[in-house]
Amino acid sequence: MAKSNLELLTGLTDSHTVEFLNNQRVHREVEKPLKAMTDEAAKEGYQLQVCSGYRSFQRQCEIWNEKVTGKRPILDSHNLPISQKGLTEEEIIYAILRWSALPATSRHHWGTDLDIIDASKLGPNTTVQLIAEEFEVGGPFFDLHDWLDKNMSRFGFFRPYSTDRGGVSPERWHLSYAPLAETYLAELTEELVVGVLKKSNLELKKSVLAVLPQIFQRFILNIDFP
Ligand SMILES: [Zn+2]
Repeated sequence: MAKSNLELLTGLTDSHTVEFLNNQRVHREVEKPLKAMTDEAAKEGYQLQVCSGYRSFQRQCEIWNEKVTGKRPILDSHNLPISQKGLTEEEIIYAILRWSALPATSRHHWGTDLDIIDASKLGPNTTVQLIAEEFEVGGPFFDLHDWLDKNMSRFGFFRPYSTDRGGVSPERWHLSYAPLAETYLAELTEELVVGVLKKSNLELKKSVLAVLPQIFQRFILNIDFP
């Protein structure tokens, strides 16, 4: 595999991305369909905003390491903090993976995957939490996402974490651009990830590498396809 694609797949480069609005970066081929979808949504009164687009390996590794070292809480399926006390390293790894991707395997590395909110619903003191309630009936981002359910496929987008498949928690806010993301998922291999992680300062590296095949099956390949 060409080095550039290896780097794209694992978050080691951002050279495939461009700046979208709001300081977020997206894959250069996602810009056009995303802009078109944003414009269509605006006609309906929604202000589609990317609150997280491209994310680097380094950033994902910081998040991971902060969870392992306790600087950032590890949350359960109901967003309640989990205590690491009495958990094996393997159990800690699986708990983190419910909400945070293993560095080198995050779909956000690709620039094809985006967390989407409706900025028109933000008050001056609102903090976006990206929790299920915000996206359910009565939540601030429900209407936009209801519209997206009916319209996003026209622009190439789908929800890889729509249902609870026992891997990543349902993340209704997370959209993916199918034409590119499907190719990238097919190209991402365990071998490639091992190569990147071995050279990194990832916490729990040894235990992660020991269960990498299971991580692939349960968290990376186990998505809702369009
Ligand atoms: Zn996401």
